[in-house]
Amino acid sequence: MESSAPARVDAAINALQLVEYPHPALLRRTKPVVRLDADLRDAVARMFDIMYEAQGVGLAANQVALPYRLFVVNVAGQRGDGEELVFINPVLSRPRGTAVQEEGCLSLPGVRMDVRRPERVAVEAWSLEGEPIRLDLDGLLARVVQHEFDHLEGRLFTDRLPEAAALEVRRDLESFREVFVGKQSRGELPGTAALLAELDRLEAARCVA
Ligand code: ZN
Repeated sequence: MESSAPARVDAAINALQLVEYPHPALLRRTKPVVRLDADLRDAVARMFDIMYEAQGVGLAANQVALPYRLFVVNVAGQRGDGEELVFINPVLSRPRGTAVQEEGCLSLPGVRMDVRRPERVAVEAWSLEGEPIRLDLDGLLARVVQHEFDHLEGRLFTDRLPEAAALEVRRDLESFREVFVGKQSRGELPGTAALLAELDRLEAARCVA
């Protein structure tokens, strides 16, 4: 990863906001970041603002329609409390144990379900300062990091439910889809082809092909 000179201000980063299922940014795998420019640093700061405002404890870049392999976490969920962590190009390894805990997601507001995940996991990533991060995680931080990592893979926590629970949320997902398509048809959101073209543009600016 290189640090480069400030680029021109990217309008997309100026206008960051949460997107909801089934925005295409949430449904495709993000690309590793190779250019950590001033816009992207600005985006990370805004991601923390958006996360706190929405009362979240973690936020992946593609939840604000940035197709980049990075997420932010603060398990305390409040500015000035806990530790603000930025994980860039994270890799998870050494999953151990199993834990079941209820999860929600800022991309699926109102949906909460029990999710089974490894209890502990190791993560390697880069910080915003370009320093390597190597942590062995357990508890809430392990859970949040795995939830956010799933986002980067284009997965939501609803993809990890057992069959009965998956059926239970299917109607919720359909409602989200109807709302999303409705906004598109009224011109409140761009069409899917335009959304995908914007993701391609953002990838081309800061990722390897
Ligand atoms: Zn989420």
